[in-house]
Amino acid sequence: MIQEKKLSRRSFLKGALASAAIVGFDMHTRRWLDWTGVQTAVAAAPNFPTFDGTLYMDPADSAQLDAAADDFGHMVSHRPLAVLDPGSINDVVVMVQFAKQHDIKVSARGQGHSTQGQAQNEAGVVINMSTLNTIHSITATEAHVQGGVTWFDLAGATTAAGFTPPTLTDYVHLSVGGTLAVGGIGGQGFAHGPQVDNVNELTVVTGNGNLVTCSATQNDRLFDAVRAGLGQVGIIVEAKVKLVPAPATVRFYNLPYLDVNAMMADQEFLIGTSRFDYVEGFALDAGGDSWIFILEAVKYNGTAADDATVLAGLNFLPGGQTMEERPFFNPAFDAFNPATFDFVNRVSILVDSILKPFGLWAFPHPWFNAFLPTDTAYSYLSNLFSSIVPSDLGPGSVVILYPFKGNKFNAPLLMTPDGDKFFTFALLKTVPPVPPLIDAALAHNAQLRDGVVAADGKRYAVDSVPMDKQDWHKHFQPQWGELVSAKQLFDPNTIMTPGQGIF
Ligand SMILES: Cc1cc2nc3c(=O)[nH]c(=O)nc-3n(C[C@H](O)[C@H](O)[C@H](O)COP(=O)(O)OP(=O)(O)OC[C@H]3O[C@@H](n4cnc5c(N)ncnc54)[C@H](O)[C@@H]3O)c2cc1C
Repeated sequence: MIQEKKLSRRSFLKGALASAAIVGFDMHTRRWLDWTGVQTAVAAAPNFPTFDGTLYMDPADSAQLDAAADDFGHMVSHRPLAVLDPGSINDVVVMVQFAKQHDIKVSARGQGHSTQGQAQNEAGVVINMSTLNTIHSITATEAHVQGGVTWFDLAGATTAAGFTPPTLTDYVHLSVGGTLAVGGIGGQGFAHGPQVDNVNELTVVTGNGNLVTCSATQNDRLFDAVRAGLGQVGIIVEAKVKLVPAPATVRFYNLPYLDVNAMMADQEFLIGTSRFDYVEGFALDAGGDSWIFILEAVKYNGTAADDATVLAGLNFLPGGQTMEERPFFNPAFDAFNPATFDFVNRVSILVDSILKPFGLWAFPHPWFNAFLPTDTAYSYLSNLFSSIVPSDLGPGSVVILYPFKGNKFNAPLLMTPDGDKFFTFALLKTVPPVPPLIDAALAHNAQLRDGVVAADGKRYAVDSVPMDKQDWHKHFQPQWGELVSAKQLFDPNTIMTPGQGIF
């Protein structure tokens, strides 16, 4: 009897796509079910989990279901059957155990800033991690947080105590679990490495429904498979993130170049010195469809007295440099009030005062992100910027380009090129919501991916690149075998994170 009822629930869950009115079939009563029938059957079924939080799965919940069928890319839409706002870590455990038992796919969603449906899940369950947003503790060396905490909230809390995560993403309204699932890079990365190399311990709900604590010394296989593991083996519900002293202020330098290789050479030189604490770079529209390149560098607690020393020998356009001091983090930050501008929220100025008000935030974002070894990066990027002009990328697009040191990147599944240094570059495209324009941008991304692979580079897997199984196999080399065996061990029923399209 119980078995039959379990079967009936599985049937309606899996049949949920049938049509707007008929959403499933109850094997127990042998009747087609509409949403009301589903609800009644759910309520009547034994062992259906109850949650501390809220499970959304009826037509009145369309706001939650629609939100989970969208992301920052706005190009892919997979509607889940249910969205869980967990009220506790135990809710995540119970949901994954139920999903495993009934062969239902599960995805965690942090802030939904993926661009290609990575956190989406057709007819499965999306766990909205933003409700697990508690910061448990902050010491001088470590913050203990839940996986749904944003880096913005964490940076706010830690800087109030005088500390900061060593590496922050450019935009900080991303979740801790979401960036640890992909890597988490930023301009401090040359000195500190990515976020996945700045976490001491993780608590994970595996695809088996087990709650496991892991670190470099405890369950290290899980630790290695979950960091930058694209959500394939489990859900990060808690993290112990490293902290370092936070500066009170930063001195912010923008240095212009007409030649991309000249900027890259200066960036590469700078990351071999301790002149700056943060090094990034951008390509901007200089007007007339030409590029200008801006090296962005930051010295923590720097002052005007440092200028001559930190800029000595650099080859930027003389007289084009700008310098200013800002607080590191200003709790009163307001994107419309320049007097409140700080360092951590620098990207939010653009997002809140331009991209959102002008509607560009809601446009499709067919992004391309990659890593290139220094051996090939100079010629690849010089050719790239000779072959595309700013208007090719769409209004409000951003191009990012900066280097790292290879020995700071140690998490095995964050795939980066060999060698002691490499560059990241990102074409953060924004295109109007016109299907042929989106298709053209995605086709361009596929070409770029092939070029990057031919140049011994790797894609940074947060973007929008059509990937088949063979592409993933190549992407994860030489770690593919380890990922496959970790998948078999921790998610043998292959229920975790189908939106990545890896398994
Ligand atoms: C404006 C903007 C700026 C960005 N800047 C940077 C940057 O500077 N550096 C950088 O590295 N990246 C950057 N990114 C990319 C970003 O790091 C990734 O898209 C990241 O995954 C987004 O985090 P999220 O919380 O929105 O995750 P989501 O998009 O919700 O999820 C991403 C993936 O991780 C999985 N996932 C989410 N939460 C968890 C969890 N708790 N446990 C396990 N898996 C989980 C999801 O299932 C999905 O597969 C940027 C993105 C945007 C839109």
